[in-house]
Amino acid sequence: LLGDTVGANFDRAVAAHGDREALVDRPSGRRWTYRSLAAEVDSVAAGLVASGVEVGDRVGIWSPNRAEWVVVQYATARIGAILVTVNPAYRVHELEYVLNQSGVRTLFAAASFKTSDCAGMIAEVRPRCAALRQVVLFDSPEWTELHAEPLPEWPELSADDPINIQYTSGTTGFPKGATLSHHNILNNGFFVGELLGYTEDDRICVPVPFYHCFGMVMGNLAATSHGACVVIPAPAFEPAATLRAVAEERCTSLYGVPTMFIAELAEADFDSYDLSSLRTGIMAGSPCPVEVMKQVVDRMGMREVSICYGMTETSPVSTQTRRDDSLDRRVSTVGRVGPHLEVKVVDPGTGRTVPRGTPGELCTRGYSVMRGYWEQPDKTAEAIDPARWMHTGDLAVMDDEGYITITGRIKDMVIRGGENLYPREIEEFLHTHPDVVDAQVVGVPDAKYGEELMAWVRMRPGTEPLTAESLRSFCAGKLAHHKIPRYVHVVDEFPMTVTGKVRKVEMRRQAIRILD
Ligand code: ATP
Ligand code: MG
Repeated sequence: LLGDTVGANFDRAVAAHGDREALVDRPSGRRWTYRSLAAEVDSVAAGLVASGVEVGDRVGIWSPNRAEWVVVQYATARIGAILVTVNPAYRVHELEYVLNQSGVRTLFAAASFKTSDCAGMIAEVRPRCAALRQVVLFDSPEWTELHAEPLPEWPELSADDPINIQYTSGTTGFPKGATLSHHNILNNGFFVGELLGYTEDDRICVPVPFYHCFGMVMGNLAATSHGACVVIPAPAFEPAATLRAVAEERCTSLYGVPTMFIAELAEADFDSYDLSSLRTGIMAGSPCPVEVMKQVVDRMGMREVSICYGMTETSPVSTQTRRDDSLDRRVSTVGRVGPHLEVKVVDPGTGRTVPRGTPGELCTRGYSVMRGYWEQPDKTAEAIDPARWMHTGDLAVMDDEGYITITGRIKDMVIRGGENLYPREIEEFLHTHPDVVDAQVVGVPDAKYGEELMAWVRMRPGTEPLTAESLRSFCAGKLAHHKIPRYVHVVDEFPMTVTGKVRKVEMRRQAIRILD
């Protein structure tokens, strides 16, 4: 385990790889070496100190991916401020909640994002956010003026100090602010990079949002702890921009949640991109369908691609497939527990560890577990037990050799006629349908069985939409009859979070309306 702070680790990267490229911001065309990035970071860090930001103060960032995001990440780490990463898709209500819940003093933001007027929303909430004393919009004079002469010395920090409040994706409810330390996230990024075999020659294409640990830890911190380079393809995910970035920047690694890879593979001119530089990458964030993983290996050439499993509360990665795992395991499991971490699968009712091969709730323990939810001790106590086990709320099976398969979230499990059904298994099967691009299965209330299954599917353009009948005949003989979805709903898009996760809570809500 590394004992450093994020700032000290960054300094080491600058000393070792100063002239190597550290960051490429494709939309603006700007590029930084480790040395030039450090100069920018130090200047912003000094400006923050000069404007009165002290150790432990909360500094928010509400912005899509861009170079300044990374600069602010390292500048706040340097001076011991706690970076509060705010989802760029938030609107007034959520922004105000997060700023007040964490007591943000200084807020960095983009003036606009997609069609949203962020500056206007900040002006609207500002009178109601008592702690907020300073707003710095990128591309404005305040940003330029914030830059100052680097200080001769930076505040003394401990690796156990909090560095981030990261709000969870809000897939299952209101987002919670996980408080993470330097030790938590620096080590997580480091080990993710170790297991992917990163060196200073790696170039990582990061289309996932920085506001989430996938981008800021598995991307930025994995890169700096190995001297690698981060490439920002676009402010927010765009499949074509991502493929172009990989081809033109000769990226060796590509990240994404499953829906991002699905969109890239479905690009009309997919074959025109030269992806031959790709060696590895990460799929994570939600269940990774085997069919999609196989295509990532075969069509994108990501021979060493890894699936990671984790959650914001655990910095995030807990399990990961490794380069020397068999291909079969690398496409169908979330791998084994990461270095210096423990996992166990328990019966959610009794809390006892279940035998290998039996599904139960996955629990994790070790250096990566958050300090707690920011100012929500009761929520923290629900999630982390007195022995420091984090209860993930995810269902998993561990095999005899320690490989783990995630079968879904406890909250998404469907109980039909007393039988536990795991949507994940049915989704995997629907992915084998030649005309189905993506499939999601949710439970809907049913008078007779308690719950019934509804499949939401996205069809390949120009194909016949699936119906309840055609689905039934496709599944017949291959899926037990009680696992065959009773209803089919064909859509162009699933309801999504900005981290690219499917919002099943919203799908269930809409499904009830459709059936009414
Ligand atoms: P919220 O906690 O606010 O409802 P969230 O759980 O989606 O949102 P994150 O911390 O971003 O917030 O996501 C962690 C969750 O993502 C895990 O608990 C798990 O359900 C899911 N997940 C992550 N990686 C994988 C994976 N490889 N396979 C299956 N599920 C995954
Ligand atoms: Mg969660």
